Amino acid sequence: MRVAELPAHHAPLRAATRPVPEPGPGEVRVRVEACGVCGSDLFLQKGGFAGAPLPIVPGHEAAGVVDALGEGVAGVARGDRVALYYITTPPGDPWAAGGRPNVSPAVQRMGVDVDGAFAEYVLRPVEALVRPPAPVDPPVLAVLTDAVATPLHALKRVARLHPGETLVVLGIGGLGSSAVQLGKAYGARVIGVSRSAAKLDLARRLGADEVVAAGEGDPVARVRELAGGAGADVVIQCVGSARVDEQAIAMGGPGGRVVLVGSSVEPFAARAVDLIWRELSVLGSRGFVPDDIRDAIALHLDGTLDVGHLVQAVRPLEEANAALDDLRQGRVLRSVLIP
Ligand SMILES: [Zn+2]
Repeated sequence: MRVAELPAHHAPLRAATRPVPEPGPGEVRVRVEACGVCGSDLFLQKGGFAGAPLPIVPGHEAAGVVDALGEGVAGVARGDRVALYYITTPPGDPWAAGGRPNVSPAVQRMGVDVDGAFAEYVLRPVEALVRPPAPVDPPVLAVLTDAVATPLHALKRVARLHPGETLVVLGIGGLGSSAVQLGKAYGARVIGVSRSAAKLDLARRLGADEVVAAGEGDPVARVRELAGGAGADVVIQCVGSARVDEQAIAMGGPGGRVVLVGSSVEPFAARAVDLIWRELSVLGSRGFVPDDIRDAIALHLDGTLDVGHLVQAVRPLEEANAALDDLRQGRVLRSVLIP
């Protein structure tokens, strides 16, 4: 089968051929129909995931069709279209048993720790398959598994956003654009913040009540003013920047929750008294769990979420490097590879 693999950090992907994988007990072979290209793939290429094996086939945001079943697999049939959950954990993993496989220290991530879906076929344990209750186009199903499920997890399960609250979205990329729509779906008043006028326009189109240009004046003061003076109830930080982490904390109001999604490896500064006096929570949110994919699919199927802006750039697998370049240069929010 054809794959695009990362041979070394800071290197371009290269086309390669691998044997079509045979599913073992409990595993399913999926013929990949679509795989999103996301900021985490750039992070992987830069060597951000320490200890990950090389060469590796990236691709963690995928949908496809069940192609072959390993021994003992039940609940899916050949030809079923499925979304793929990117994490597996060892048998008996206590975090997975508690419904939080994403935070297990023993996570095995598709496209990071094991070969992913920049390939014609991929193997997944049957538990990692999510079957939509109604037909969903493969590129849409792919982006629902990460571009939507990641901010959904952050807003719903980690920050516990409530109707009527004010939500600030920092960075209107693949995750932030979905966060704007999700914020509206959850009944929040949404303020979108970006350096890019085009992305602020997008935030407005997706339902943001207010937008703030990050590069003009004092965006923290402007957001606090728009949030009623005291600061926002929830701030979702989707930009990989320690300076923006600090701005996010400064935007949080009394009882607020600042949830970090953009992965920066740089330290940020915060004063204990600022957190204490506002009872401000600074939270990390890591990926998502399978129920977040189910929620994302349901919000798409009922018409609440339109992910059309995330699936405009579709390329064949052979153009994986061009798709990564488009993302790096900010020309697209997402690309979708079709093997
Ligand atoms: Zn991703």
